[in-house]
Amino acid sequence: MKKTIRDLDLKNRRVFIRDDFNVPLKNGVIRDDTRIRASLPTIKYARDAGAKCVVLASHLGRPKGRPNPEMSLRPVADRLAELLGVPVAFAGDCVGPEAENAVRNAPPGAVVLLENLRFHPEEEKNEIGFARALASLADAYVNDAFGAAHRAHASVEAIVRLTPQAPAGLLMENELRYLGGVLEKPERPFVAVLGGAKVSDKIEVIENLIPRVDRLLIGGAMAYTFFKAMGKPTGRSLVEDDKLDAARDIMRRAQERGLQFLLPSDHVVTDKPEPGVPTEVLNVDSNAIGDRMGLDIGPVTVAAYTKALRDAKTVVWNGPMGVFEIDEFAHGTIGVAKAVAEVQGTTIVGGGDSIAAIKKAGVADRITHISTGGGASLEFLAGRTLPGVAVLPDN
Ligand code: ADP
Ligand code: MG
Repeated sequence: MKKTIRDLDLKNRRVFIRDDFNVPLKNGVIRDDTRIRASLPTIKYARDAGAKCVVLASHLGRPKGRPNPEMSLRPVADRLAELLGVPVAFAGDCVGPEAENAVRNAPPGAVVLLENLRFHPEEEKNEIGFARALASLADAYVNDAFGAAHRAHASVEAIVRLTPQAPAGLLMENELRYLGGVLEKPERPFVAVLGGAKVSDKIEVIENLIPRVDRLLIGGAMAYTFFKAMGKPTGRSLVEDDKLDAARDIMRRAQERGLQFLLPSDHVVTDKPEPGVPTEVLNVDSNAIGDRMGLDIGPVTVAAYTKALRDAKTVVWNGPMGVFEIDEFAHGTIGVAKAVAEVQGTTIVGGGDSIAAIKKAGVADRITHISTGGGASLEFLAGRTLPGVAVLPDN
């Protein structure tokens, strides 16, 4: 287990916390503050532990090493202040005099948010000099940015080599505990539910899970690449033709391993992904799909997946079962979300759209762990080493 913030004495120290505030922004308005909320426990912990100043840093979007007002973290400072109930000072740069002055002038116990790390090209280049400039702002460093841990960037990798005490924050600790737990010692039956837009995004995750799970339930557009590989009619459904061999290989391995590999048996077909269009439920073997497309799993599949989840002790879910953004095609995802919420065991949901889907289903508070790590969560589940985690010291 990694050293955590609880192993560090923070009293009267200035603490630099690397957070993941990479939130969806449009015209300066935060459209989803899940990641900000997920960062609160560590920030509160540092303040309660008597930190003299809490300095927060994050990236946002892809400004490509140049300041870009559309990707400023300023709106995050305002939201953080609301959520924490304390003022949050904002520094217009993450290094140099502006950052130094903001930290120096901060009253005891203050929270200071630094501007977007990626406004400097040195961040993504993992430059040690840039890391040193960041580290010089505080006396202690904490990494709570699980969502950035799959990148060897200066604020998550180089900086830790300069501050060997670097502990994981509480969010990072939770992500490692839950995601690590399912890969290392899952309680059984262990069921994985995978869906979403593309097989190609998730091939490595499926491959890494095949030796570990008892059941694999497939939904979403991903199912159609498997269907085409099996010679079933797919109409204009989303198929990745360059992944047909990969799909066959996955099915062969699942069979060798003897696990239950479930694909939808019925689906909701229509002409186009729009609200109000006429829909029809068909068996997946039916040629009546014609040149229409499948946009959701059908009710028979929901019932089968619900049954496959009933006795699960561990569940990992990534990727919606259909185009849940449109109500007509949300039934499958909502049905499976409710089944996951009923599970008497550890349930883990990851992926931006999947989190939105469980919120839409109204069951987010009945999920054991919601992983906000996005790409990092997928890489972790794929069995890859995350540079930002590997560099953190063990306890
Ligand atoms: P996550 O963000 O949870 O990792 P993905 O990004 O992989 O999930 O996939 C989510 C997207 O997949 C959603 O926008 C949803 O509309 C889309 N999707 C799901 N099923 C289908 C389908 N049958 N056809 C087209 N798109 C689909
Ligand atoms: Mg997504």
